[in-house]
Amino acid sequence: MTDTMTKSAVLILLGPPGAGKGTQARMLEEKFGLVQLSTGDLLRAAVAAGTEAGKAAKAAMDSGGLVSDEIVLAIIKDRLGEPDTKKGVILDGFPRTAVQAAALDELLADQGMSIGAAISLEVDDAAMVERVSGRYTCGNCGEGYHDSFKQPAVAGICDKCGSSDFKRRADDNAETVGARLEAYHAQTAPLISYYDGQGALKRVDAMGEIDRIAADLAAIVTEVAA
Ligand code: AMP
Repeated sequence: MTDTMTKSAVLILLGPPGAGKGTQARMLEEKFGLVQLSTGDLLRAAVAAGTEAGKAAKAAMDSGGLVSDEIVLAIIKDRLGEPDTKKGVILDGFPRTAVQAAALDELLADQGMSIGAAISLEVDDAAMVERVSGRYTCGNCGEGYHDSFKQPAVAGICDKCGSSDFKRRADDNAETVGARLEAYHAQTAPLISYYDGQGALKRVDAMGEIDRIAADLAAIVTEVAA
């Protein structure tokens, strides 16, 4: 059962790699029926499919840098044009630059929509390297695990769907995380004041228990979509 919302919401999750954007977006998707839009997932799918965009994006992704605004905007515009997004979306990993943020404002204005909230997941950078380098997911259902913090109850079997197919992202290693954190601080963190200026910013302490953070986020969604 999903909670009901009277307005379709556009929510943005901001935060460095490892802050929990994907985990929390998946939880909000389940609870509110919102659609999670992760540009990282869309780009990884493009790389796997060998599309022109995927080929052009791969080197930046492997090195922990940002993919060009042009490629990312083309991908997100396509996805936002699909009908399921009318239920409301959680943008996970987008926008990441000032150019992307301005383009998103225009895109939403064209459709008579606006940003419900930009939520900054506030974490200690020092903890992110360990969080990111130990994480992996179920290849079947996407459930997240971690070498130190959350192993499956039965080794090698997903708690949620029973699959034994697990995967790790190629860029989730200690070397690349440093570059990704740098890209976040240089290019994405300035968006926190951009959205503060629009009156859309909410800050959430994202260092504690996953369920407490989820409850804080759910309260924000309920407030902006009521
Ligand atoms: P993520 O899954 O969000 O951690 O993204 C993985 C990688 O995809 C990033 O390190 C970037 O190389 C690329 N990427 C994802 N989203 C964006 C974006 N909005 N702008 C530029 N590059 C992106």
